[in-house]
Amino acid sequence: VVRLKDVRKSFGSVNVLNGVTLNVKKGQVVAIIGKSGSGKSTALRCIDRLEKIDSGSIEVCGQLVDDACDINILRRDLGIVFQGYNLFPHLTVQQNITLGLTVVRKMPKPEADDIAHAMLTKVGLEARKTAYPEQLSGGQQQRVAIARSLAMMPKVMLFDEVTSALDPELTGEVLKVMEQLAEGGMTMILVTHEMGFARHVADLVVFMHQGKVWESGSPEIMDAPETGEFRQFVGSNL
Ligand code: ATP
Ligand code: MG
Repeated sequence: VVRLKDVRKSFGSVNVLNGVTLNVKKGQVVAIIGKSGSGKSTALRCIDRLEKIDSGSIEVCGQLVDDACDINILRRDLGIVFQGYNLFPHLTVQQNITLGLTVVRKMPKPEADDIAHAMLTKVGLEARKTAYPEQLSGGQQQRVAIARSLAMMPKVMLFDEVTSALDPELTGEVLKVMEQLAEGGMTMILVTHEMGFARHVADLVVFMHQGKVWESGSPEIMDAPETGEFRQFVGSNL
């Protein structure tokens, strides 16, 4: 459902993506790992068209992501959660989730409220729907951000280091929600520093280095790196 073919992207003279090719099938969980600056976030941002690519092609759910693409369809198909919590501070948890449904999707409020309730139940926060973001822990806020994305019923979820700003105790609860999503069959592409999570949940592990897919395969590739670069990365992230 997501295909990247020889994708290149530079910022000025810096080549950030140097021909990235990646195929993600329906229901697959893909973990992108790699050193800081290897182009992981840029790759996700190109998929979501937050950045334009210089050459190559990207396809999401049958649509080419290019100048002519329908960004509304693209954003309907993709849910994206970043490292920051990106919740609206002046809205309650419930309102954060229903806003997109009522405003963008023109859904009647009672229906949106039902969906919000269901999604909050999914992430274990149905009891906190009247709370404001600042009254929640970082992990809880991140779970609300995931619930808000899920409420829009995306076909593919993109996660960019959603746990890296969290204390270790809070990381686990967010990873658990993501694991349940994976088990439910959601197609997911996630950038993560959580090697254990990548190992246990991912179907495909992609090691990026210098803007390229350097090695990829089942999580077992982490046990037997073929290149010195990957071996060094795995060694420094044990
Ligand atoms: P990290 O693990 O630190 O998040 P990353 O693999 O996600 O790293 P990217 O954020 O994709 O790396 O950045 C790759 C390179 O592109 C970096 O050298 C960065 O400085 C550069 N870069 C990213 N975005 C921009 C931008 N908008 N303008 C200029 N350079 C950028
Ligand atoms: Mg990044």
